[in-house]
Amino acid sequence: MKKNINASLINMYHVCKREMWLHHQNVNMEQTSETVYEGKLIGETTYLQRPEKYTEIEISIDFEGIGLNAKIDFYDAKNKIVHEIKKSNKLENAHIAQVKFYLFLLEKNGIEGVSGVLEYPKLKQKHSIEPLKENDIIEIKNAIKAIQTILNQDFCPELVKKTYCKTCSYYDFCYINE
Ligand code: SF4
Repeated sequence: MKKNINASLINMYHVCKREMWLHHQNVNMEQTSETVYEGKLIGETTYLQRPEKYTEIEISIDFEGIGLNAKIDFYDAKNKIVHEIKKSNKLENAHIAQVKFYLFLLEKNGIEGVSGVLEYPKLKQKHSIEPLKENDIIEIKNAIKAIQTILNQDFCPELVKKTYCKTCSYYDFCYINE
């Protein structure tokens, strides 16, 4: 069965496939970690007022029978730049993959040549992402297929220990017998 894929799943796929599977299964854990709280605060305070040049857009497309969905919070339509705001750059690979997913959806919607900027206001850092190249598109398509395979599994992917685990909402679930 083909599953819908959104930016959160893309992000989690690049962080932890087990987390992605659990999230998809609606295994919800209480999110009380300071990290999650701080992440929310950044969204609520730093960018409390969306500058006029940014538009919030929602995109849904059908890709080979798979529904792909995204809500882009800060799209600069004039300059064709997607801005994505994050708290920490520790999971930057996943952030980059998320922005590229947005660029892919925009491209599939006929808006080509869009670039991205990852912003880390707390760190006062920015990371530019160029418009998609052929190899980016291949990677995105491969990730979409791999995500489909994992989400269709009846079993939870194995625990792969990583430093990120300590801030993950599934930490207790994963480490109860460790
Ligand atoms: S605790 Fe670690 S292994 Fe478990 S879901 Fe979270 S990141 Fe993945």
